[in-house]
Amino acid sequence: MMMNIPLLAPMLQFTAANWRYYSEPSKNACMGLKGGRCPLPRGKVMGGSSVLNFMVYARGDARDYDNWAAMGNKGWSWKEVYPYFLKSEDFQIKENWVEPEAHGQGGYMSVDTAPYKSPLVHAFVKAGAELGYKLTDYNAGDISGFSYVQSTTKNGSRMSTSQAFLHPIRKRRNLNVVKYAMVTKIIIENERAVGVEYIKNNKKFSVKAKREVILSAGAINSPQLLMLSGIGPKEHLQSLGIRVIKDLPVGYNLIDHPVIGYVIFTVDKPVSATEDIVTDAEVLNDYFTHRKGILTTTGGLEGVAFIDVNSPPGSVSQPNLEIQFCTSSPISKNVYSYLMFMTVMHPKSRGRISLRNTDPLSKPKIEIGFFNHPDDVKILVKGVELSKNLSNTKAFAEFNPKLYDKPIPQCAKHGRDSEAYWACHAKYLTVTNYHQCGTCKMGPAGDPTAVVDPKLRVHGIKGLRVIDASIMPMISSANTNAPTIMIAEKGADMIKKDWKRL
Ligand SMILES: Cc1cc2nc3c(=O)[nH]c(=O)nc-3n(C[C@H](O)[C@H](O)[C@H](O)COP(=O)(O)OP(=O)(O)OC[C@H]3O[C@@H](n4cnc5c(N)ncnc54)[C@H](O)[C@@H]3O)c2cc1C
Repeated sequence: MMMNIPLLAPMLQFTAANWRYYSEPSKNACMGLKGGRCPLPRGKVMGGSSVLNFMVYARGDARDYDNWAAMGNKGWSWKEVYPYFLKSEDFQIKENWVEPEAHGQGGYMSVDTAPYKSPLVHAFVKAGAELGYKLTDYNAGDISGFSYVQSTTKNGSRMSTSQAFLHPIRKRRNLNVVKYAMVTKIIIENERAVGVEYIKNNKKFSVKAKREVILSAGAINSPQLLMLSGIGPKEHLQSLGIRVIKDLPVGYNLIDHPVIGYVIFTVDKPVSATEDIVTDAEVLNDYFTHRKGILTTTGGLEGVAFIDVNSPPGSVSQPNLEIQFCTSSPISKNVYSYLMFMTVMHPKSRGRISLRNTDPLSKPKIEIGFFNHPDDVKILVKGVELSKNLSNTKAFAEFNPKLYDKPIPQCAKHGRDSEAYWACHAKYLTVTNYHQCGTCKMGPAGDPTAVVDPKLRVHGIKGLRVIDASIMPMISSANTNAPTIMIAEKGADMIKKDWKRL
């Protein structure tokens, strides 16, 4: 039940439903966090990370997919993937800032908006307009502008991919789910995947596939499983004594959206979500009786904006910064505040997933790569400037916002509020936007960086497809859940077509 209350989303990371991954220490990011490691939560539960996520529904920009196609991925242009976004969608929003014709009806996944909107999020959208940015439905192809959050929710509750896609078909006779099981290896004979090995209750089992094996373990575990099974970079596998079945660049091209943490503004009115709100009888009654009120906001994220920080408002260039506007913050226990969760849309930095050893139960090594390329941090520094400009607008004036003034000691030498200070702040207080992808990159035959082909089949291996966020050749502009669902819808059609069921 708790998993389904949208405001409580951040708390799920502290439950057993999280794999609890951490990045390796780095000289460029997460430096102020415990051990210099960024927590990288992933869902260890039916529905995967969609059970832990903040429910923001964002398809990304049409140009993202046209780029995928231009990289040689036939069939993946915006025009070709758009029908798959529509297919899964059951659009509920009736408010006047959306474009209903850009959405689908009757699909398995409900897309809605929180019935509650705080005065702060209205100020955020108006502040955008004051600076010249348009109010937009960011799911209609062009993401530029300011908006309210569209979410994978229904009637004020989370809708995970398990609830949306598995619950309705759970009685199908050709569906068998083995719970509490962990896959340890893909069985490959004569360069064909023929089944998987898994463990359950400390016992080993195997299951055979008549036609093909579909790997959907996410951007961290899909490459881990391929490598454990002998598919991966030859030298890396050989160094661990794993027999190489296919030499492919598995685990490279790890992309994620880095966030500059804790850009907080205090306000002097009781308008944000404070900790005690969760135990307020009226708030609880409002939620449990009417599915209304602040508990329906997705982790407090209420607003979203996509901006090119290097161009003036109204320009047609592709946005390079996303702001997720959150009407609560880690300091909301004592004071009213809001937070701008700012992230680089097209990071140039790359990381890598590799194996520590041959034990499938051992966590893989995650070099997250944040800020390895100096351009990424520059976008966030410009984002901080923009967040201050937004907070200085007439729209926010009644709340008297003030930048939370508690500098990071290691960065104080740069002078409070200087560009160098904020660059340092980003490197010390780095947060993931939880969008790891790209580690089993899709690309045509002949692309030395590709792991799967445009039909999601592992190059050089028969009967094995990867269908999850790991296949993205480039990260989508915006959050990755909706694109992953689109990949799954398209992958499902490819399977049916190949086996002549479509
Ligand atoms: C905290 C958090 C917040 C997020 N917020 C948002 C958001 O607001 N909007 C958005 O669009 N995106 C968000 N995301 C990202 C989004 O949820 C992911 O991009 C998406 O879920 C990726 O789907 P996937 O299928 O690739 O992987 P996952 O959803 O991670 O699914 C992988 C599944 O495989 C299972 N698995 C892995 N290894 C094995 C094994 N060996 N054996 C058996 N099972 C295995 C896992 O347990 C999991 O169930 C968030 C993610 C997190 C973690």
